[in-house]
Amino acid sequence: MILPIYTYGMPVLRKKAEDITPDFPNLKELISDMFETMYHSDGVGLAAPQIGKAIRVVVITLDVLKDDFPEYADFNRAYINPHILEYDDSETAISEEGCLSLPGIHEPVRRPTRIKVSYLDEDFTPHEEWVEGYLARVMQHEFDHLEGKLFIDRISPLRKQMSRSKTSNLLKGKFRCAYKVKSPK
Ligand SMILES: [Zn+2]
Repeated sequence: MILPIYTYGMPVLRKKAEDITPDFPNLKELISDMFETMYHSDGVGLAAPQIGKAIRVVVITLDVLKDDFPEYADFNRAYINPHILEYDDSETAISEEGCLSLPGIHEPVRRPTRIKVSYLDEDFTPHEEWVEGYLARVMQHEFDHLEGKLFIDRISPLRKQMSRSKTSNLLKGKFRCAYKVKSPK
């Protein structure tokens, strides 16, 4: 089932999300709905707060990048209770980001290129690993959602100022996008 995506100004996007346990009701269905919603809206990642749930569940698909990065072919993964354990601050990179919760806004964001993460997979098997490159960027963007953070919090004050009219239009419901949303107005 395709779920509506909560857009900028919805309070759940600013909540810190909670870890879940394996008995979380209808988890398999929730994850499958999140994948379907992400594919439908052409996103590469979706975090549970974006569908109105303050829980630590994220889905990521990188298959669309397979022409440039063959290692991402068929990359469709769910992350349960993910946490960033360490940032390798020795190298950062700037790349343009967008967000399904902020339709129409794209801004360059500087982030570390390598992070250490812990998470459970869909079978609740624990993993702990260093991740780099595009996946590390998408993970940082998505896992930020679980802390109530958005990528526009990480742009320069000047860029923030410049995007203010766009964010205020999002609050007023004055925007268009090709997928179903829940917006403040
Ligand atoms: Zn996002």
